[in-house]
Order: sequence, then structure tokens, then C-alpha cells
Amino acid sequence: MKILNSNNLPEQLINLVQSDYKPTPKRYSCTTILKPTRQIILERKHNDEIEQDISDMCWLVFGIAVHSIIENSQESITQFKEEKLSMDLGKICKELDGYVLSGRSDLIDLGNKKIYDWKTCSTWKIIFKDYEDWRKETLIYAWLVKQLGFEINSGEIVTFIKDHKKSQVKISKDYPKFPVQTIKFKFTEKDYQEIEKFIIDKFLEIKKYENALDKDLPLCTPEERYNTGDKYAVKKKNNKRASKVHDTLEEAQKHLNNLEKDYPGVYEIEKREGENRKCMEYCNVCKFCDFYKEIEEKEEEEK
Ligand code: SF4
Repeated sequence: MKILNSNNLPEQLINLVQSDYKPTPKRYSCTTILKPTRQIILERKHNDEIEQDISDMCWLVFGIAVHSIIENSQESITQFKEEKLSMDLGKICKELDGYVLSGRSDLIDLGNKKIYDWKTCSTWKIIFKDYEDWRKETLIYAWLVKQLGFEINSGEIVTFIKDHKKSQVKISKDYPKFPVQTIKFKFTEKDYQEIEKFIIDKFLEIKKYENALDKDLPLCTPEERYNTGDKYAVKKKNNKRASKVHDTLEEAQKHLNNLEKDYPGVYEIEKREGENRKCMEYCNVCKFCDFYKEIEEKEEEEK
């Protein structure tokens, strides 16, 4: 990855995030397999061309700083910090012989049979309890440790809230009281079976598309694209402004039918396609992705 420095920030910050990481064929990390397959393959293919500005990486720098402080703390005799884990998946699926799942867990506590992970997040993540990605990631680490013969039955995320405002605490009962929170997960046998299936299916999909042309890669799902969902605007014909925007076509049709009684032929329904927020704002490989290029071209034409 090329690190740009459009704001002339101190060189030290760049040194902190710069890495000579080169992907190893057939080796994918616990965090990588949580990404959409299209993004994983494009990242690998264009590793040397991906650009990111250091000014957009301040929370990554913050995360590195948090990890570095914790790395220097003293662990107990049954705890293992920043332990590198890996496993050849050929052991559980013949078709995946030579494919390796790897990862580095923040803290494995064998005494308490628990995996810990340090994170940073926004207040919204806590308010909406949007923890499924964290649960899945911690469970993958736990599964990996279990394969090595150790018992793990829970996970805990310690997260620092980047945009926490003390002034909001009294205003809303859902607002997190403190800028640091712990989120706990219990892992059952069923969870382990489900995550093992997810790992195998994901690696099989990666294997299938590893050498595919960019245009043939499976499209990220609407959820993976953070698609905001199509909306249906009821509006006067030739007007841009809607009288009301509905979430479903059925609701919009009902509204239009009512208006038709008093104003026949005056109103119409306009479908407004949902935005793919990840493609537009957060995806590091968007400039290599045909889907994103199509959106850009369409927007250019509409201007
Ligand atoms: S730009 Fe969108 S569709 Fe393309 S890889 Fe990124 S998230 Fe997926």
C-alpha cells in the first residue's frame, strides 16, 4: 500500500503505519476473511497500487497506539499477548489443503478460557449494539485456539469510543456512560460449528475466485456495500421534490392511490436507488472495482 501525505504530517506518523506487508499466497487472516470476497481478491491483486492518505488514517494510528500500550502491560502466567496463530485448513477439509488461516490475538486468557480484543469505535456502534462483526471475529480466534487443543468459551471486546461526549450521557438513557466499554460474548458448541462452516465456505469461495478476472468476481452483497435500500418517492409529475418518500413500493402505491382520488394523473412514483455507502466512501479498492466504476460513470452522465 502507498501512504500519501497530502497535509505534510510528521514523518513519524507515516513510519508508524507503513509496512512492507506482501500477501502470502493461500494464507488469509481472521480479519481478512470477514471482508467481502471481491474486496479480498482485489486487495491482493492491487496491493502495491492501493493508496491511502495518512490524514485519513488517524484512527488506525490511535488503534496502533492503544495496542502498543497494552502490549507493554504485564500478563499473568495463563495469559498470552499478541500470540500468532495459524492452521492449515487441509486438516478439516481436503479441498483446502495448503490454505492457511492465520491471526494474531490481542490476549488469550487460558485461565478464564477467554479471548480479549481491543477496539476503537463510534458511539453509534454502542447505541445500536451493532456487535455481530466483533462477535464473529472473536469467535474465529477462539475457534483457532480451540483447534490447538485449548478450551475457550467466551470473548470480550474492550472498546474505546472515539466520539464520546460526556454532555450527552444525561440526555439519553441509551448513550454510553463512559468512553470505554466492554462487550462480552459466550460461545457455544453450535457457535463453533457455525463458524467452522463459515471459515470453510469462505476459503472455498476465495479459492474459486483467486485467479478470476476482476469482472468475474462475485459482487459484494447490499449489506456488505452498506446499501441504504431503495426508496419510493411520491411526487408531482415534473417536480423534483417528493411529497413523501416511502421505504416500500406498497406504501408508495397506497399513498398514490389516495392522491389519485382527488388529483387524478397529477402524481407519480419515482424509485430512488439506495446508496452504496461503503463503495462511495470507505472501500480501499473501489478504484479497481467495476461495480464502483459503473456507479461513477452513471453519476457523471447524470450531471
Ligand atoms: S467498491 Fe463496493 S462492490 Fe466494489 S469491492 Fe468495494 S464494497 Fe465491494
